Amino acid sequence: MINPYIQYMYSYPHKTAYRPMSGVSLWDYKDKLKGPGHGLYLHIPFCQGKCGYCNLFSVTGANREAMERYLEVVWRQAEQYAGILKSQGSSFSSVTIGGGTPLCLQEAQLDQVFSRIESWFTLESGRDVVIETAPNQTDRGKLKILKDAGVTRVSMGIQSFCQEELAALRRGHSPDQARKALDLLLSFGFACVNLDFIYGIPGQDTASLIRSLKEAVAYSPQEIFLYPLYIKHGAGLEREGMEPEPQKAYEQYQEASKFLKSKGFCQDSMRRFVYRDGARREFSDCGFSTSLALGCGGRSYVGNLHFCTPYAITAHQCKKELLAYQETKDFTQIRHGIRLSQDEEKRRYVIRHVLIRPGVKEEWYQERFKSRILEDFPQIARWMEEGFAAREEGNYLVLTDKGMGLSDYLGPQLISKAVLEAMREWEENHGFKTTAYDPLQRKPEKL
Ligand code: SF4
Repeated sequence: MINPYIQYMYSYPHKTAYRPMSGVSLWDYKDKLKGPGHGLYLHIPFCQGKCGYCNLFSVTGANREAMERYLEVVWRQAEQYAGILKSQGSSFSSVTIGGGTPLCLQEAQLDQVFSRIESWFTLESGRDVVIETAPNQTDRGKLKILKDAGVTRVSMGIQSFCQEELAALRRGHSPDQARKALDLLLSFGFACVNLDFIYGIPGQDTASLIRSLKEAVAYSPQEIFLYPLYIKHGAGLEREGMEPEPQKAYEQYQEASKFLKSKGFCQDSMRRFVYRDGARREFSDCGFSTSLALGCGGRSYVGNLHFCTPYAITAHQCKKELLAYQETKDFTQIRHGIRLSQDEEKRRYVIRHVLIRPGVKEEWYQERFKSRILEDFPQIARWMEEGFAAREEGNYLVLTDKGMGLSDYLGPQLISKAVLEAMREWEENHGFKTTAYDPLQRKPEKL
C-alpha cells in the first residue's frame, strides 16, 4: 500500500524552493499588472494560539499596538504598490484576507482594513471579497463590518465537532463555541460560507468524522473543505512526536467523500466539496492570473515571478520574519522568490488544472504552451492506464474519483528535479530530515 499523503500541491512551486533575490524590481513586471482582473491578498498573521498542526505564517501574543504597527507597515507597502498600479490602470476582481486569523483584529482595525484597501486600490464592481475566520474570533460586531464591506465568502476553520479531536489538534475552541459562531455567521446571509474539517486526527474514527460532517451539513454551508492531517516540519505536533496514520486517514476520506456526495455536494478536488446538486464546475484559468500580496507571509504571483517573505513555521522564525518585514523600506524591491521557466510554468498549469475538476482540455494546453500535454507529461498517460486519470465529458483531462483521493500522492510526481532539489536543500539547511518526495524513485502502485 502506498502513502496517499506525500504532499499537498495547492501552489507550485513550494515556498521552500524560493531563494533570496537581488536586483529585481516589481517595476520591471509592471506590464503584468496592467488593466482589470487581478487578485489582491492581505495576510493578517495573528492568532490567539498556535494550532499543533499549523504550518502557516502566524504569530501569537500580539496586542492591539503590535497589530497597529503591523497595519501601518502594510499601508506603507500598499502605497508603494499603488504607484505601480496607477501607472498601469490596474483593477482587482478579488480581494482575499487570510492569515493567521484576520478577525483577531479589533473592530476599528478591521474597518480600517476595508477602507484603506478601497482607498489604495481600484476594486471592480461585482468583486469577490473573501475572508477567513475562526470560531473564537467571530462575533456580531465583526460580522457586521464584513457584511457592510461587501464580503462575499467567509471561510471558518471548524476542524471537528468532537472536543477530544479539537484537543488533539491543539485547537483553541470548543464544539459549542463553533456551533455558536456558526449560528451567528449564518444569520448574516453571506453568499458563500465555507467550513474546513480535518480527518486523520489521532483518536478520530470514521464514525466520529461522519458525525462532524452530518452536523456541518445541517447548517447548509455552500462549501466544505476536507483536509488530511499533515504534520509538517516545525509544527507543534511534530515536536510532540505525533505520527500521522495515513491508511486510516485514507479510509476516512473515502467514507467522508461518499457521505458528502450523498448529500448533494460535488467534489471538485481532493479537498473541495461544493453544494450544487450535481452541476459541473465551470473551467477557470486558476493560478494564472496575477495576485499581489500585502503583509508578511503573503505570496504574490506576477507573471513568472513568484515572491514572498521567506518560509517560516516556528514562532522564532515567524517573529524574525515579521521584524524584517516591518523594517523593509522599499517593498518594490523583490528580495525572496523564484522566476519560473516555461517548464515550471507548464508544471504549475497541470498541477492547478488536472488535479481539479473539470480538468483541462488538451487543445487549451497546446494553445498556451505550443506543445502537447501528454508528451510533456507522460505520467498523465500512465495515470490514465492505471485508472487515476481519464478524458471526461467535454474532452477534459482530469483525475478520476480514485485518482482524486490520491492527489497528494500523484501530484508530487509533477515536481521538477530542480524544485525538488531546492526543497531538499531547504530542509537540510534547516536541520530537518528530508521528506521531499522523489518522483523518479517511485512507480504508481495498484491499490
Ligand atoms: S491553523 Fe489557522 S488558526 Fe491555527 S494557528 Fe494556524 S493560522 Fe492560526
